[in-house]
Amino acid sequence: MTRLVILGKQGAGKGTQCALLVNHFKIPHISTGDMLRAAVAEGTELGLQAKTIMEAGELVSDDLILGIVQERLTQPDAENGFLLDGFPRTDAQAQGLVEMLAPEGIDMAIDIEVPDAVVTQRMLARGRDDDTPEAIERRLHLYQEETAPLLHFFSSRGALAAVDGLGTEQEVHSRIIKAVESRD
Ligand code: AMP
Repeated sequence: MTRLVILGKQGAGKGTQCALLVNHFKIPHISTGDMLRAAVAEGTELGLQAKTIMEAGELVSDDLILGIVQERLTQPDAENGFLLDGFPRTDAQAQGLVEMLAPEGIDMAIDIEVPDAVVTQRMLARGRDDDTPEAIERRLHLYQEETAPLLHFFSSRGALAAVDGLGTEQEVHSRIIKAVESRD
């Protein structure tokens, strides 16, 4: 049973590390952003509710998110664990998650640490239209605001692994595995 949460700024290498982790632990990758985008594409009731909020770059309500996560975690493939990505994003979501998983809770929240200057360089190097220096700075600021309390939330429960995100993909992966296994 491996129940993980992944945290990290845009450009910290979360996508690559998620792919390596789900392969290593044979657990499903549960991304609330992916689930919401799928709902929008399918035009479901949930998608209709989420669409405008997502387009405005705001957060979908905690109740709605907790509902979709709870439903997803009861599916059979999540029985032996999962990797949560993009969730929790607020204190209320973190509390809700702990209640859902009581009494065990999650095993580890992994924070991939990369300095702002490095993620900024990486994002500018991608050259995407929405990666202007101003937009990057804004996203980093928002991440800091929404995530710093979550780091505290998990560390106060002894469930935070802060992993150095500099180095090759394999080096970072090995550090994460070591951190997760040291908790078992
Ligand atoms: P992401 O791909 O994780 O960046 O998510 C894309 C968008 O979906 C976000 O900008 C939010 O509007 C919404 N979203 C995803 N996950 C959450 C969450 N845990 N809580 C609230 N909104 C979320």
